Amino acid sequence: MIEEFVQTRYRCTVCSKSYVSKARTEDHIEKGCVRDPETRACKTCRHWDRWSHCAVGAKDSDEWAIRHCDEWTPYPTLEDRNGTDENNNDPV
Ligand SMILES: [Zn+2]
Repeated sequence: MIEEFVQTRYRCTVCSKSYVSKARTEDHIEKGCVRDPETRACKTCRHWDRWSHCAVGAKDSDEWAIRHCDEWTPYPTLEDRNGTDENNNDPV
C-alpha cells in the first residue's frame, strides 16, 4: 500500500541544510553556520585555501569546529577590489 504524505522540514537560510527537527535547526544556527560570514569560520575566510589549509595557521587540525576565529578575514567584495585597484587599466 502507498500513502502519500507531506513532511515539514526546517532549513538554514544561509547554507540550505535542512532538518526534520526545528530544535536541531535552531542548534545549527545558534552554534554558528560555517557558511555564515558572521560565524567567522574557514569556509568564508580568505586565508582558507583550496587545499584546505589555513594560510595563517589559525587552524591546524582536520576538525571542522573553528568558529569566531581571530584571524578570520573576509574575501574582498567586487566593490573593494575596484576601489583599491589603482592599476586597473582594463578597458571597460
Ligand atoms: Zn547553515
